[in-house]
Amino acid sequence: MQQTTITFWGGLNTIGGNIAEVAYGDARVIFDFGLVYDPGTSFIQNRQRRKNAYVSDLLKLGSIPPIDGIYAYSDIHTDYDYAKQPLPYEESDKQTAVWISHLHLDHMGAMDAIASDIPIYMSKQSKELFEHLQEIGEGLNRSREMEGIEYQTPVQVGEITVIPYQTDHDAYGSMAMLIKTPDLTILYSGDIRMHGQHPEYNQKLIQSMQDIPIDILLMEGTAFRPVQTEEDDDKSQAPVESEQEIAAYISEKLGNHTGLGIFNIYHRNIDRINNMIEAGQKANRQVILETATAYIADGLASHRTFSILLPKNKELHAWEKELMKNYSTVTSAEINQNPSSYFIQNSFDNLVDLLDLRVQNALYFHANGMPLGTFDPKFHSLLKYLEFFHIHYQPINVSGHATKEDILSMIDALNPALLIPWHSHYPELVKPNDPNQAVFLPKKTSYKLENGMLQEIYTG
Ligand SMILES: [Zn+2]
Ligand SMILES: [Zn+2]
Repeated sequence: MQQTTITFWGGLNTIGGNIAEVAYGDARVIFDFGLVYDPGTSFIQNRQRRKNAYVSDLLKLGSIPPIDGIYAYSDIHTDYDYAKQPLPYEESDKQTAVWISHLHLDHMGAMDAIASDIPIYMSKQSKELFEHLQEIGEGLNRSREMEGIEYQTPVQVGEITVIPYQTDHDAYGSMAMLIKTPDLTILYSGDIRMHGQHPEYNQKLIQSMQDIPIDILLMEGTAFRPVQTEEDDDKSQAPVESEQEIAAYISEKLGNHTGLGIFNIYHRNIDRINNMIEAGQKANRQVILETATAYIADGLASHRTFSILLPKNKELHAWEKELMKNYSTVTSAEINQNPSSYFIQNSFDNLVDLLDLRVQNALYFHANGMPLGTFDPKFHSLLKYLEFFHIHYQPINVSGHATKEDILSMIDALNPALLIPWHSHYPELVKPNDPNQAVFLPKKTSYKLENGMLQEIYTG
């Protein structure tokens, strides 16, 4: 008798890098294929130089799991045998499809390691964002085909059906996915938050699940931390609690301030780009974007009232030249004539460009741009730099992840037979409101469902 198996490959007690495999018969669905983000151990800095060894390098470093049948023979066969050499794609008889919930690196950073004949599905919106990222040089090491799909449109992989549902997270195009096999229904939340620009997306997901009995809910639990670390994090927290409050807060601050306004964001969150443009407009300041963000905003943002900072001493790419036909450009000399009239984007990689600007008494809004927090050594460099130039630092990091309370309410509303919290450093801290809610913390191994509980499959 055939039975669904579920294998966990990563992300059980890390933030991101969560990879699971649901198999029925010869068909299987693998979802999310990212890298655990750790600035302290990103060994392969110059990926271009080791491009030909890319997949075997990641396997040797343990950055991607040794799953049989998903990597091309030519990518994993090197002149020496490493510990866990998986079966090459060419020698496997499985029908595999990979699904990506959203375009954060911890969910998609290694998808280009997968054999090119295996389809990779993501939302149409994610695919659109990915194409923009590729154009500006922020795509992946190797190019490959992606399948963009509409939300709530089922895709069949053998006898497994996958249905994507739009969710709200701080990455454009995010989704949850319902995975149905002949004997099991699994909902994977993806990364999700209720305090974003579009909580109605999540409400609609919950509504759609009312008549669907969920056997297993895979729920992100980023916000669950011991109290001590919460206090540490509070130092970099925002004075507002939701994405929707950001524009009003910043515009008020800017309106009451003389001096340049600066912001640092992560541009895969299109809502954030919109909110920064809105904040500048409300404060009667001209919003100036870096060319890369301007390219993304031009394609995907709803607000497009911005100018572009003319890059200095740099050959412009074709896409930059094209962009500048449609938007006005501003030079640092023009900004310096009246810094109080501007609200300008500055990413950490371009921090030195602030040396061209009159930044005395400037206000710097750190709104989830890199470096993300105290765990990144660059965070301290950023603060030192700003302090040296007497720039006021204002953290406005509104998390992309639901609060503990919101996660627990979502679990109640989805009412799964079995809850598996993951994408968390402390999944054991997820304690459902309902004392009868079954919870399971899996290991990195394969399971099948028996009498409502996951039983480990011993392969010998
Ligand atoms: Zn994540
Ligand atoms: Zn995410």
